[in-house]
Amino acid sequence: MRISTFDTSLRDGSQGENVNFSVDDKLAITQKLDELGIDYVEGGWPGSNPKDKEFFERAQNLQLKHALLTAFGSTRFARNPVHEDRNVDLLLRANTPVIAIFGKSWDLHTRVALGVTEDENLAMIRETVAYLKQHGKEVVYDAEHFFDGYRANRDFALRTLEAAKEAGADVLCLCDTNGGALTSQIAAAVADVRARFGGTIGIHAHNDSELAVANSLAAIEAGATHVQGCLNGYGERCGNANLAAVIANLELKLGYETIGRERLAGLTPACRFIAELANLPLRRDLPFVGQSAFAHKGGIHVSAVIKDSATYEHL
Ligand SMILES: [Zn+2]
Repeated sequence: MRISTFDTSLRDGSQGENVNFSVDDKLAITQKLDELGIDYVEGGWPGSNPKDKEFFERAQNLQLKHALLTAFGSTRFARNPVHEDRNVDLLLRANTPVIAIFGKSWDLHTRVALGVTEDENLAMIRETVAYLKQHGKEVVYDAEHFFDGYRANRDFALRTLEAAKEAGADVLCLCDTNGGALTSQIAAAVADVRARFGGTIGIHAHNDSELAVANSLAAIEAGATHVQGCLNGYGERCGNANLAAVIANLELKLGYETIGRERLAGLTPACRFIAELANLPLRRDLPFVGQSAFAHKGGIHVSAVIKDSATYEHL
């Protein structure tokens, strides 16, 4: 089975405290991710800053072979009709084939952060997705705080998905925005959503509990077929799911197809390239791609690995 890959290094990744990319960097990384065979490259949030707006203007000249460029934003503001919402308009002006929008799934956020009723929130989701679909876009609906919302008020969290689905969303992506969910909770919630909704279910995991990769894999084993993350695991706070590790595990251990086995050797150069443009060292202990991932120091290990690498290497 094929799992689609969605890299958000240029959006969520660049919300990491020490990660900064220029527009030139972002264009070069987009090209690199395309060569690697990543399906979706989330380039930024055109409504949030002029740099991302410029990126999407200049990205029109890129010749991408495979990746679909994706612009990110939110559902319309509560007070705006969707066709008069500036952020939604900027999303369309980004001129990408795909748009990812996030909406609220947690009743607490609806009441406290947005200050709107549950019905108003459902209308914001429904109208924004429908409007973007009318404009011919592929729509990835990011259900923000889905797992927290599911625990607090399952019925409401599921109704937000229903609103997005009925309006035509192509992907229902379940987000563990605070990164606090445990693997068993993710698996159970994804299986429940899978049983209720057809189409593509996605997973967007953060690493605050050091579980982002495990949670992404568990979501896929429970029926998700779209996975979001960042190649080096960059991202807000403790980062997003490390997409390089997700891809390697899916391809080599779970038998799923992502970028294709023949492209796996491109993971390390791509991770190094992104780290270099971020002016950050590639962590030596990064699984699969770090310099220490297959290094051995202890004498007993070295002597055994020389005889057969399977003695002390998982791959
Ligand atoms: Zn995120």
